[in-house]
Amino acid sequence: MQAYLDNAATTQIADEAFESMKPFLTTNYGNPSSLHSHGRQARAAIELCRKSVAQLLGASPKEIIFTSGGTEANNTILRSVAKKYGRLITAKTEHHAVLEVAHKLSNEGIDVIYLDIDSLGYPDYDQLETLIKKSPSAVSLMFANNETGTVVDVPMIGKLCSANNSFFHTDAVQAIGHLPINLSTLEIHGLSASAHKFHGPKGTGFMYINKQHRIRPFILGGPQENESRAGTENVAGIVGMVKALELSIDHLEQDIKYVKGLKERFIEKIKSVEGLSFNGDHKNGLYTIVNISIPKTSANELLLFNLDLKGVAASGGSACSAGAVQESHVLKEMGVDPQRGALRFSFSRYNTSDEIDFAISSLRELLD
Ligand code: PLP
Repeated sequence: MQAYLDNAATTQIADEAFESMKPFLTTNYGNPSSLHSHGRQARAAIELCRKSVAQLLGASPKEIIFTSGGTEANNTILRSVAKKYGRLITAKTEHHAVLEVAHKLSNEGIDVIYLDIDSLGYPDYDQLETLIKKSPSAVSLMFANNETGTVVDVPMIGKLCSANNSFFHTDAVQAIGHLPINLSTLEIHGLSASAHKFHGPKGTGFMYINKQHRIRPFILGGPQENESRAGTENVAGIVGMVKALELSIDHLEQDIKYVKGLKERFIEKIKSVEGLSFNGDHKNGLYTIVNISIPKTSANELLLFNLDLKGVAASGGSACSAGAVQESHVLKEMGVDPQRGALRFSFSRYNTSDEIDFAISSLRELLD
């Protein structure tokens, strides 16, 4: 048996998404910037996709800009808005696609401030309020953490930022397609999304920029995407992504119920292991992710590798190499004991309860 429980790293592409891409890789191969019929066909497909994303998320089509994924969206938005405000407020639990940009911006003279983080992974909201009351800022706080699943209070942060003339960007890579998100009511000014986290293809994503704001392009070389992102659009990727997003949002309620059930089953079956603990807010966090610290006595560099040999794919956090568990910058920030190995299991609608049981029995064999 095999159990792929690393859906926060990437997901299986939905068949429907894959099928929708095929014509744009074979017969409909026009460049969307070409004026002839081949080009116009590709352009029409992209604009239909833009409309669909906008409709699904409560935005307007002009506010959606296609990118190569979440990393590019984060880079583009942060570089543009942090330079405008001269100050960036974020947290050390963000993905490296935010942290490394913040680090570079700091070297370039931007005032970068990292909020304090509590033991469940929540940023200090009072500190944020004090800071932005003093000076309007660019704020970047992720919707849901990719290692622990901790979900920040997006509606409250949005209101706070709007009231204090600050720009609120959220890396929503783990949330889009998994949580109901209505951009017409949330005061989010910029958002990053990635297709391969919601059963779309890799190498494609989008950013949302609220129409009150404009960002400078990070990638230069053409007028595409309303002059916000140069380069020939990945037509097939965009079509596949939007099909995947439509499927996810159409079935959101039932998928949430189903995947939540898998997570609860996992927790119920693993919690009796002596010395095991949960990282992050496992009760209120994202229903797709469970992060555990294993007993010190079982901490073993080869645990992930051995799990993989048994047929269970999990992760040691955001980064791991050659099956070895590496220290996670997120867990470190939350004060989790680094001597105890941490494992992340993440679920999708394509997992089954048999796979959960199989993963638990495999893990128990390795921990005993
Ligand atoms: N942000 C978060 C929270 C992620 O989990 C990831 C992917 O791991 C990214 C950004 C990067 O997205 P992409 O792989 O589309 O560049």
